[in-house]
Amino acid sequence: MSLKKTLSAVSPLTLRIVAECPVTKARACDLVLPHCTVNTPVFMPVGTQGTLKGITVDQLESLGCQICLGNTYHLGMRPGPELIEKANGLHGFMKWKNNLLTDSGGFQMVSLVELSEVTEEGVKFKSPYDGKEILLSPEKSISIQNSLGSDIMMQLDDVVSSTVTGPRVEEAMHRSIRWLDRCIAANKNPDKQNLFAIIQGGLNAELRKICLEEMTQRDVPGFAIGGLSGGEEKDDFWRMVTLSTDHLPREKPRYLMGVGSVSMLWIWWSDFWFGSALVPWGSLQVKQKQYAKDFQPIDPDCQCPTCKRHSRAYLHALFKTDTAAMHHVTVHNIAYQLTLMRSVRQSIVEGRFPEFIRTFMKRMFPSSEQYPGWAVDALASVNITLD
Ligand SMILES: [Zn+2]
Repeated sequence: MSLKKTLSAVSPLTLRIVAECPVTKARACDLVLPHCTVNTPVFMPVGTQGTLKGITVDQLESLGCQICLGNTYHLGMRPGPELIEKANGLHGFMKWKNNLLTDSGGFQMVSLVELSEVTEEGVKFKSPYDGKEILLSPEKSISIQNSLGSDIMMQLDDVVSSTVTGPRVEEAMHRSIRWLDRCIAANKNPDKQNLFAIIQGGLNAELRKICLEEMTQRDVPGFAIGGLSGGEEKDDFWRMVTLSTDHLPREKPRYLMGVGSVSMLWIWWSDFWFGSALVPWGSLQVKQKQYAKDFQPIDPDCQCPTCKRHSRAYLHALFKTDTAAMHHVTVHNIAYQLTLMRSVRQSIVEGRFPEFIRTFMKRMFPSSEQYPGWAVDALASVNITLD
C-alpha cells in the first residue's frame, strides 16, 4: 500500500530553509508551528517534568524559549490526560503560549520502570503509583498526546539500548515501523498536531537504511533520530547521525533526540549538566572553595538574570543553605544554551559557521592536544578541520 498517496499532505507545520552552510550542510531554518515560529537550530529545555529542578514558565518565556518538552509518561500518570484535557491541553494547564513537544512515554517506561515487557500490542508495565498493570500501545500514546495537545508528538517506538546487538535490534526496528502506522491512524488531530516518526536501527547501518527508506514513504511532518545517546561510542553515534541526515527529506525538520538540542556539535555538554554551570571554557562548579570570595558572575559575558545580578561568591554561599542556588544555576544554563544556539544560527546565516566552531573549540580546549578524538573525527566528517 502506498501510504504517501492515501494520507493527506496537509500538516500544521511549515519549514523554511533560511540558510545552509556550504561546508557542513548545517541549516538555519524557520519552523512555523501552531503556537509560534521556532528559529533553528534550537535548544529545547524540558519544561514540564514533575521533578524539574526549579524554573518557572514565566522564566522560560522571558529567556526566549520557543519550544519546550513535556514528558508524556509523567503527565499521563499524574495528573492524567483527562484533567489536562479539561484545562485545554497542556498549553492551558501550564499557561504556556509557545510550542510544546511531547514524547511517546515509551522511553521513560523502558528506562524507569523495571517491570516492563514489550509485545506487538505495546509496552506493558506496572504503575509505580499503584502497582496496576498498564499497557502503553501506540494508540494509547497518541490518545494521551492528543489530550495534551502538543504541537509535535512523537510516535511510540520499540526502544532498545544502543549497546544491544543481534536480532532484537532488527525486531525493534521493524516493530517501530508498524507502530508508526498505528500512530498515524490513531491521530485525531492531524490538522493541529504534528506526528514525528522515529528512525531506529541501532548502530547497524543496513537496518538504519531500511528504516529510513520505509519511514520516509509515510507522509509524516518530521523525523527524529532515535535509538542513540544511550552509552554508545561517540564515533558510532556520529556515523549513525550522518547516515540518517543524509537520507532524510530536505524539506522536513529533523530532531536529534535525547541530546537536548538539534545541533550536531554540543552533545558532550549534557555530560557536564549536573550541578555545574556551563561556560564557554567548559564548566564551572560554584560549590568549589575557589569561588568563595570571587565576586565575578558565573560568566562575565552572559546576559542572563543570574549573571546580571549574582556573584560566584553569593551562589557559593547559597549552595550551603538553600536549594535556590541550584535554581539560579539552572536559569543560567538554560539561558546559556538558548543563547549559544542563537549564535550558532547567526553564524550559519552569516556564512561563518566553520569559523564559529573553530573559535568555540579553541576556547573550550586551550591546547589542540586536548581536543577529544571523536570531536575531531565528527567535525572532519562535516568538512571542518581544526587547527
Ligand atoms: Zn548567566
